[in-house]
Amino acid sequence: MARRKFVCGNWKMHKTGQEALQLVKDLVQRLSGASAQVGIAPPFTAVAQVKWALSQARSPLQLFGQNCHHEKQGAFTGEVSALMLKDAGCDGVILGHSERRQLFGETDEGVARKVKAALAEGLHPIVCVGETLQEREAGRTWEVVSRQMRAGLAGLDTGAVQKLTIAYEPVWAIGTGRNATAAQAQEVHGQIRGLLRELGGAAAADAVRIQYGGSVKPDNAAELLGQPDVDGALVGGASLKAEDFAKIVEAAR
Ligand code: PEP
Repeated sequence: MARRKFVCGNWKMHKTGQEALQLVKDLVQRLSGASAQVGIAPPFTAVAQVKWALSQARSPLQLFGQNCHHEKQGAFTGEVSALMLKDAGCDGVILGHSERRQLFGETDEGVARKVKAALAEGLHPIVCVGETLQEREAGRTWEVVSRQMRAGLAGLDTGAVQKLTIAYEPVWAIGTGRNATAAQAQEVHGQIRGLLRELGGAAAADAVRIQYGGSVKPDNAAELLGQPDVDGALVGGASLKAEDFAKIVEAAR
């Protein structure tokens, strides 16, 4: 089954409202003819402005949050719920990013709660998994990735699994300029596809897009995206420059 490629830009903690508007304007122009599905994940403070700009331009670009809390509302200072992201115009949300796991103590179980909360609001979750360099060098890549997958997808029925995107992001490749080779990415993506079959059935394994993330740049995107089980990319640094991001989207053609 041919899966439509899906490229999402994770802006992390970058861009003020004005800067975000400029970047979106540039992206909308450059990506008007894109055949891939494209998402952007600005910081929470810029979500409403970006939504407004996308609506004005009638752009098909999708809007993602970078995280959410699993409760709808409550005394959780500094947090934002899936309900609030939906209300602000988001189409989906990135969950379990390695920076959330490493710097903010997110657990596999916490990610699973967030996935359920996002699905309950009709948001499209991008669930991030990936091993550290130490884990890879110890030969534990699949042990770690499969644990994150099993825990993150726990309790989801096959219909719910089909609504996810999985982002395989080796932690050692994020923001380092050192991307996984196409063969390394394909190996893990193929294993993830097999596990999706076990967890969600053949239809889910066919439907779910598995993005690669970790130092994707215009000059390595085509090779990575050319692998049979690499269905797109989650892009950090290179998504902050419209020209680079547009080239990556083009490589997903
Ligand atoms: C990311 O943060 O999801 C990411 C892949 O970052 P970068 O592209 O900068 O490595």
